[in-house]
Amino acid sequence: MNAPLLPLSEPLPPPSRRAAHEAGKLAKRLRHQVGRAIADFGMIEDGDKVMVCLSGGKDSYTMLDILLQLQRKAPVSFSITAVNLDQKQPGFPEHVLPEYLSSIGVDHHILEQDTYSVVTRVVPEGKTMCSLCSRMRRGALYTYAEEQGFTKIALGHHRDDLVATFFLNLFFHSKISGMPPKLLSDDGKHVVIRPLAYAREEDIAAYADAKGFPIIPCNLCGSQENLQRKQVKKMMDAWERETPGRIEQIARALGDIRPSQLSDPKLFDFLSLGKRGDDALPDAHAWLGGEARETGMGDRES
Ligand code: SF4
Repeated sequence: MNAPLLPLSEPLPPPSRRAAHEAGKLAKRLRHQVGRAIADFGMIEDGDKVMVCLSGGKDSYTMLDILLQLQRKAPVSFSITAVNLDQKQPGFPEHVLPEYLSSIGVDHHILEQDTYSVVTRVVPEGKTMCSLCSRMRRGALYTYAEEQGFTKIALGHHRDDLVATFFLNLFFHSKISGMPPKLLSDDGKHVVIRPLAYAREEDIAAYADAKGFPIIPCNLCGSQENLQRKQVKKMMDAWERETPGRIEQIARALGDIRPSQLSDPKLFDFLSLGKRGDDALPDAHAWLGGEARETGMGDRES
């Protein structure tokens, strides 16, 4: 007698189809998050010339890819130009980005500026070079954006970068401040947008992997990551392991600030709160003056 047939389970799709399916799901989620961020912060409007800064890392590749997808169905018309700054780090594979960008038919430009020599000359050996390197990179990109008349500069920072910057400012600079999804540069000339502001790093990494972007590592210069940033990342990773979803909670909190529940009199008018009369309230000098006199009397008595 034949053995009873086992129930057949659904055959798994072959690995390449599975990867494509996964990438499709991720693309949908990322498009949704990027579209929402663009709308929530008014990042792109009709006629915008968007300069997409491409470093060759997973984040900027993903940003470009998703923006191109959204551009096809966008309710407004805007242009996209991918711009990479070749900083002349030793071993930088300069053919990778132009080849990739030409292959997908995107308008692009490679800027060349040897910031590497400057940074290695100025920063003492053993110290992290990233802060100066990033500042110089920003300077070069902003200058180019102004020359070319770009109306928006898109950077690939994501949700986890926004949260990490918040904690860096909190722990090391005593400030409640972060990395905003949209910002006017200090000189007032550039509007910087971060379309990945709602996107999780984990999703971006998986998407970049599934799409097989030709990633160029950002450590060709041999610089180590800043120690404070490392500490914050370690803390965030541990939180996410122990309490999944915590980073999302924090990211949401960054978009739901209650000035009246904090302690900054510049943000909320605590002075007028519940004030009964029209008389001006005594300031800190008046209050401290009283305390000083009392202390003085006490001192004399003792
Ligand atoms: S790792 Fe190197 S190239 Fe990347 S930001 Fe730091 S100094 Fe610059």
